[in-house]
Amino acid sequence: MMLSESFDNDRKTAPVGRFAPSPTGPLHFGTLLAAVGSYCLARQRGGQWLMRIEDLDSPRVVPGSAASILHALEAFGFEWDGPIVYQSERSAAYEAALDRLRQEHLVYDCGCSRKEILASAPHHGEEGPRYPGTCRDGLSSGRPLRALRLRVPDRLFCFNDAVFGLTEQRLADAVGDFVLKRADGMYAYQLAVVVDDHDAGVTQVVRGADLLGSTVRQIYLHSCLGYCAPDYLHLPLALSPDGMKLSKRNDPVGLQGEVGSSGPLLRALRFLNQSLPLEGIEMQPHEVLAWAVKIFDIAKIPRALSLLDQDGLISEVK
Ligand SMILES: [Zn+2]
Repeated sequence: MMLSESFDNDRKTAPVGRFAPSPTGPLHFGTLLAAVGSYCLARQRGGQWLMRIEDLDSPRVVPGSAASILHALEAFGFEWDGPIVYQSERSAAYEAALDRLRQEHLVYDCGCSRKEILASAPHHGEEGPRYPGTCRDGLSSGRPLRALRLRVPDRLFCFNDAVFGLTEQRLADAVGDFVLKRADGMYAYQLAVVVDDHDAGVTQVVRGADLLGSTVRQIYLHSCLGYCAPDYLHLPLALSPDGMKLSKRNDPVGLQGEVGSSGPLLRALRFLNQSLPLEGIEMQPHEVLAWAVKIFDIAKIPRALSLLDQDGLISEVK
């Protein structure tokens, strides 16, 4: 069953892209890559670029970092459309979506602890321990409610990623019925991202390949809610020279001190294997971005899950 068609040419109207950083620290190079990719691919076809702050995971949210990320993006010349959406203010929309899934009997209460799931899952799925379906037919009496889970059918799903091509996953094997809301009131990322993208009219999602494995869950959730899923394009992840994923804590091309200069934007373009402006010409960040919008080419993006990055140079991987 094919759930998503190709990225670029099938839609007749201008695309609606988005950038959705988590405010867990300052902007870092890995996040800048997703900003550059999503911005260029929305703008080059005259589309909108929306901004969403994914501040759902409140224990990890660092006060002040949303403002710091937005300030850095502005300094790099990014301009977004419309008001900024904060996930922490969207509970009513998530609850309405859950009500809809309840009416369709697509969700059920689960009382299993993480320990019980680990003990009962003989094989890990691609995305961690696979939920074995213990509570599918009802919660045994006396068990505390721990989570609300979405039923997944036992069939193969596939979608066409604009960089990675045909991507398949059997949800039942990879993750099993997955959590949409925890009993402590926390909404799952998978639910929030689907409801947010749908409500904002997002038609293309450009983000790091660390989320490639959760895309099928999101596409399936779109279909359960009667939504049309957006197109997906996953960018290779930047790894540090020691092979670790770049994070806010581990960023050899740290943007601190370089916010508002052209260097990080040029490194992002080089990392994504795009054409660079002629050397020796001084360009302001907004000029680099304007150049990037014109020349950005999906076909040139390296088709590798991750790439090493040392001053933005692509090492031979894969
Ligand atoms: Zn359970």
